[in-house]
Amino acid sequence: MSTSTMPEASAKKAEKPHTYGNYINGRQVKAETGETFASYNPAKTDEVIGYFAASTPKDVKDAVDAAAKAFPAWKRTPAPHRAEILLKAAHLLESRKEELAQTMTREMGKVIKEARGDVQEAIDMAKYMAGEGRRLVGQTVPSELPHKFAMSVRQPIGVVGLITPWNFPVAIPSWKTLPALVAGNTVVIKPASDTPLCALMFVEILNEAGLPPGVLNLVTGSGSKVGNALVEDSRVHAISLTGSCEVGKKVAGRCGELMKKISCELGGKNAICVMEDADIDLALEGALWGAFGTAGQRCTAASRVIVHKARYEEFCTKFKKATEALKLGYGLDESVQVGPVVNQGQLDTVKMYVEIGKKEGAKLLCGGNALTEGVFAKGFFHEPTVFCDVKPSMRIAQEEIFGPVTCIIPVENFEEALEVANGTDFGLSLSMYTKDVNRAFMAMEDLESGIVYINAPTIGAEIQLPFGGVKQTGNGHREAGTACIDFFTEWKSIYVDYSGRLQKAQIDTDELVAKAE
Ligand code: NAD
Repeated sequence: MSTSTMPEASAKKAEKPHTYGNYINGRQVKAETGETFASYNPAKTDEVIGYFAASTPKDVKDAVDAAAKAFPAWKRTPAPHRAEILLKAAHLLESRKEELAQTMTREMGKVIKEARGDVQEAIDMAKYMAGEGRRLVGQTVPSELPHKFAMSVRQPIGVVGLITPWNFPVAIPSWKTLPALVAGNTVVIKPASDTPLCALMFVEILNEAGLPPGVLNLVTGSGSKVGNALVEDSRVHAISLTGSCEVGKKVAGRCGELMKKISCELGGKNAICVMEDADIDLALEGALWGAFGTAGQRCTAASRVIVHKARYEEFCTKFKKATEALKLGYGLDESVQVGPVVNQGQLDTVKMYVEIGKKEGAKLLCGGNALTEGVFAKGFFHEPTVFCDVKPSMRIAQEEIFGPVTCIIPVENFEEALEVANGTDFGLSLSMYTKDVNRAFMAMEDLESGIVYINAPTIGAEIQLPFGGVKQTGNGHREAGTACIDFFTEWKSIYVDYSGRLQKAQIDTDELVAKAE
């Protein structure tokens, strides 16, 4: 493994962009080949954020070696002690919140207020998981036999591999890393290639908080090389992946063949339903935030707005006006509301879906163009775009676009709203705006998604509740809340027989019942 003195990951803008390494066994190291790739500012592509290790399977092996070596001691470290390190990390994250947020805006484009929220989510998660160090609850249950004790305990899995996307570059790594660590696993994380600096800063902060070398490692590089090598390594016992359905299905399929535990958090086609009795201005504000926050690049983005016909014209008119008033630009400007999309590929996808929408016969209410002039010339900017008169079966209403595009769909009544909301392959986040308490509860019961909001948009999850989706959005696991611990632990059931004789479960019990009679 080649080593070199490399700068600590930092937001400070250097005159010349720094070169960073992987983070293995407590320090940065170069990739085996010495090759690097660049991370760019999507608002100003002439600004290179830094150069990062273009790793190979050999680099992944080095990281897994370190994690496997660190596992026995970390597993034996009492969970409350592991949690102390997480609490210290929470305080370090707090002290570096602004620096991390600014790095995030520069590295992936989300506006600064949202970037601060992203870091705050990691701080919240660190504090919450620090508390988990004194819980990690198991069960004690009565045995059917006398003088026999029955209990279950949670145990760490071993080395776990975490594969993360770019849209929540600190929050999502934190959702995975912190429960994995408090439960006693050691970790190799492979972040998205659009946001390696955010991930490296997060990993260095956790190590600074006191993690022993090798407990948390990071390897940067392509999904097909690095992600794949992580999946293939037999010492990695579980993979937790957040990303697209395409990648999720591929990785989950391979993990199935390898009998490896796999958690997938994938795409969404979320909807806000606006009923005839809704507070229209509240719904409008929510739909605007849900559709165009993070330039529509949230897994929970409101990419469909389903509106009762009685309020349809009013909603469309007001929504167009509000969308056109949004301020686009570089997210470090506090007054900017919508930043760029993350890269050229994402911009091309958005442009492609705008053309598909037009061809399908949806009406373009506003937007529809990439911005290429003046301050937008060097970035990946696209106007916030709204289609109306959208039919539920259209591709723009069925497929995840992951950009600043939303579809307004008219419906006749509440029942049709539920049917349209549920009528996609995804099931992450659905929302209902109504003042009718009966309808609100019916929506909570019948909306087919992992997350339901009433009178609030599809975005805005808090870390103390489980996060994840049904149908094609996921494979049944949850992040955050206490539920996240389930994925990162194995149950061990323990029976202690202190009767001093052989007792046979299910057999001796008949005798016991007879004796009692
Ligand atoms: P992506 O699927 O392109 O990449 C996700 C990660 O997988 C990246 O780190 C990538 O390098 C890696 N990867 C790619 N190919 C791989 C392979 N063959 N083997 C192993 N790893 C591989 O997704 P993205 O563009 O980074 O993120 C956007 C997607 O993530 C959207 O679909 C969005 O809905 C989804 N997302 C879901 C949630 C959720 O919780 N449900 C949250 C955020 C984002």
